[in-house]
Amino acid sequence: MTNYERIFRTAIAQLRNERRYREFADLERIPGRFPRAHWHSPAGLREVVVWCSNDYLGMGQHPAVISAMTEAVEKYGAGAGGTRNISGTHHPAVLLERELASLHEKESALLFTSGYVANQTALATIGRLLPDGVIFSDAGNHNSIIEGIRRSDARKAIFRHNDLNHLEELLCAETPARPKLIVFESVYSMDGAIAPIAEIVTLAERYGAMTYLDEVHAVGMYGAHGGGIAEREGLASRIDVIQGTLGKAFGCIGGYIAGNEALVDAVRSYAPGFIFTTALPPAVCVAALAAVRHLKSSSAEREAQQRNVRELKEKLAAAKLPVLPNESQIVAIPVGDAEICKQLSDRLLHEHGVYVQPINYPTVPKGTERLRATPTPQHDSRLIGEFVTALEAVWRESGLPFVSGDAAAQARSLESAPAAIRSRA
Ligand SMILES: *Cc1c(COP(=O)(O)O)cnc(C)c1O
Repeated sequence: MTNYERIFRTAIAQLRNERRYREFADLERIPGRFPRAHWHSPAGLREVVVWCSNDYLGMGQHPAVISAMTEAVEKYGAGAGGTRNISGTHHPAVLLERELASLHEKESALLFTSGYVANQTALATIGRLLPDGVIFSDAGNHNSIIEGIRRSDARKAIFRHNDLNHLEELLCAETPARPKLIVFESVYSMDGAIAPIAEIVTLAERYGAMTYLDEVHAVGMYGAHGGGIAEREGLASRIDVIQGTLGKAFGCIGGYIAGNEALVDAVRSYAPGFIFTTALPPAVCVAALAAVRHLKSSSAEREAQQRNVRELKEKLAAAKLPVLPNESQIVAIPVGDAEICKQLSDRLLHEHGVYVQPINYPTVPKGTERLRATPTPQHDSRLIGEFVTALEAVWRESGLPFVSGDAAAQARSLESAPAAIRSRA
């Protein structure tokens, strides 16, 4: 008879062998003291500083968001009570969708229970609705996009990460009459690269393709109103679908798409990941609405984040630690080895009270393992100094090479030749 338990134990053992078994730190965030948290460590409760939160602007603990959510729970109760098809729509969801449509300069928006579900079900649905369609997808796209495209059954053409020539080559290869959809992200979360949106939109217009832009790592953080990179570049109106999350810079949970009325209505009507699942709770929608509205009128958080990101990158470079060069809020420190990457992270947490997750395969390709720090407005100069000092210490103890000469050039060469880091390590 089948030994079921053994099947699962073997699967886990394989991950351990490959040094990519994941352990989660057991944390309690401390409201009002972001980015500090209590860690339930093997030796008891300890206070640590979190350096890898995607609550990019600390909005999850913003007083306006917390009080909006608390009041909404009192007013509306805990859950939504069902799917919108069965139980109707609660009003906060309507208000939030209107706000998101306006944020992205679109006619309509539609909420999902997460950004993941938004991508997965919207792309599957749009892809199915395009007759004989072909979807052009950036090689660096997130798993939720890959899954959505897979479920669409449309033909898929993958272009090299941010490579316009390759994208054009693939577009050229299709007949003009064939429906086309280009899917890409504005800020790629693991290397922090920003897509050449204007050029991609121009190609889309030239070849008659639709565009779908994942702004998950940009909403709230870029553009005068937090509408993302597309807003900052004045391109939102030329993109067909903008997808975002309420779970990262907006500090809550949920995802959405924004687009023209017909497209959004079609997704609402056909997408299983929208139809067959309970709606977001009203209190979550009210809290997200408070976060979106706050960031629409306040740039203080964005500016402070950018300042702290710049300071961290400069201090790492001054300490001769490698950083992948980019223009975004993501500070990626290449390590190039799964085992060492995990060791660095463990030592930072245990010896220095600094929590930064190792980023290993399959999130990034093997040999490009890295630490990924996300400074927020609340990571001030003192915390940045402590982080760099701690990283320098564990880096030295691990025998990793420090960057010599021009730090930026070196970081670039580390990015393209991760094997070299391993052999030197
Ligand atoms: C996190 C992420 C998502 C999913 O968003 P959630 O709201 O966390 O489900 C989608 N796309 C990208 C690029 C992401 O990094």
